[in-house]
Amino acid sequence: MADIFSEEQRSYVMSRIKNKDTRPELMVRKYLHARGFRYRLHNKKLPGSPDLVLKKYRSVIFVHGCFWHGHKHCKTGIRLPKTRTEWWKEKIAKNRRRDIKKAAELLNLGWNVITIWECQLKSKNREATLQGLVKTLEKNHH
Ligand SMILES: [Zn+2]
Repeated sequence: MADIFSEEQRSYVMSRIKNKDTRPELMVRKYLHARGFRYRLHNKKLPGSPDLVLKKYRSVIFVHGCFWHGHKHCKTGIRLPKTRTEWWKEKIAKNRRRDIKKAAELLNLGWNVITIWECQLKSKNREATLQGLVKTLEKNHH
């Protein structure tokens, strides 16, 4: 991390950087695993190295943090940091463009691409989100 960050900014960034074992992703993994789904994690051979890859279901799952991946119309009302706001905007827009591009590449390879947002895993929405995910996967199983 470059020195352009103040201490406050740094901890803000670090707390939001995409982490291999972020809690939302663990929730999805645990839920699916308990229901007998098997998957590979972070397959780097696929575009965007999806968080979960379920070969049998020809499906990949991304669990996205709402801030970092720029969740549009996010109900949790993510706010940009007050300093360097334009820089953040551009940074997040870039992440979004990359996500969209990678998803298109995966679709072209014949994968079903499922994106789960952090806010969909908040306790109020979690069960519905995960049940919906299982239904989607079952539909993708031919
Ligand atoms: Zn969100």
